[in-house]
Amino acid sequence: MKYIGAHVSAAGGVENAPLNAAAIGAKAFGLFTKNQRQWVAPPLSEKSIEQFKENCALHGYQPWQILPHNSYLTNLGHAEKAELEKSRAAFLDEMQRCEQLGLDRLNFHPGSHLKLVTPEESLSIIAESINLALDKTNGVTAVIENTAGQGTNLGHNFGQIRYIIDRIEDKSRVGVCIDTCHTFTSGYDLITPEGYQETFRLFEEIIGFSYLRGIHLNDSMKPLGSRVDRHDSIGKGLLGKEVFERIMNDARFNNLPIILETPDETLWKEEISMLYGMIKA
Ligand SMILES: [Zn+2]
Ligand SMILES: [Zn+2]
Repeated sequence: MKYIGAHVSAAGGVENAPLNAAAIGAKAFGLFTKNQRQWVAPPLSEKSIEQFKENCALHGYQPWQILPHNSYLTNLGHAEKAELEKSRAAFLDEMQRCEQLGLDRLNFHPGSHLKLVTPEESLSIIAESINLALDKTNGVTAVIENTAGQGTNLGHNFGQIRYIIDRIEDKSRVGVCIDTCHTFTSGYDLITPEGYQETFRLFEEIIGFSYLRGIHLNDSMKPLGSRVDRHDSIGKGLLGKEVFERIMNDARFNNLPIILETPDETLWKEEISMLYGMIKA
């Protein structure tokens, strides 16, 4: 079974996210549990937490159908102590917010080496950042999202993600999110049937589908290997519709939150029903 939704707004409070998801016919959703462009946010109120849980129950959303997204500001691989401490504190706060909301996973972009250290050194710092956050929380899995590899962003190939996973102490609480746009622009072909097969064969070989905890389903404005992160609406970008048809009919993507982060939110409802329509009985 496929659980498709979108990264919906939590404006006015996290409790509004499940309502916004239900309004577009989503069976899964993503959200920010705090303003994604600010370092510090007020704690979640008891009322907000309670309402969030009630609204999720009302619309039948279970924790595994929800993929919260970490702030864009953190860099868990920063080589400078003060910056790293700031990022680690913010990440821990986000993990704790998920814990409070009864959520079981938090998606995040691994980090950037900023040419301060080697990619491997930065990946090791990221792994240690994850270990520290897992130590101080319970029940929330840290979900590493693959990136397009813009600038010095890490996590743009499966080997780098494996490198991090290898250094995680509690492997039951680390997972991976595949973003289709990032996968493509980082250099993995998804367009041809052979490319699609090979990309996910490599994913299985290097990381393993057992680590998969979510999908970001986006078309791409930029070409294969461009290492630029520009999402497009489903079927309107360079990926085209066939890739999404394959994914919709691929059992490896069952029972996971499949989240649209496509740019035109007025199309989400239509995109979700189009995707469900692609599933062959
Ligand atoms: Zn994404
Ligand atoms: Zn992106």
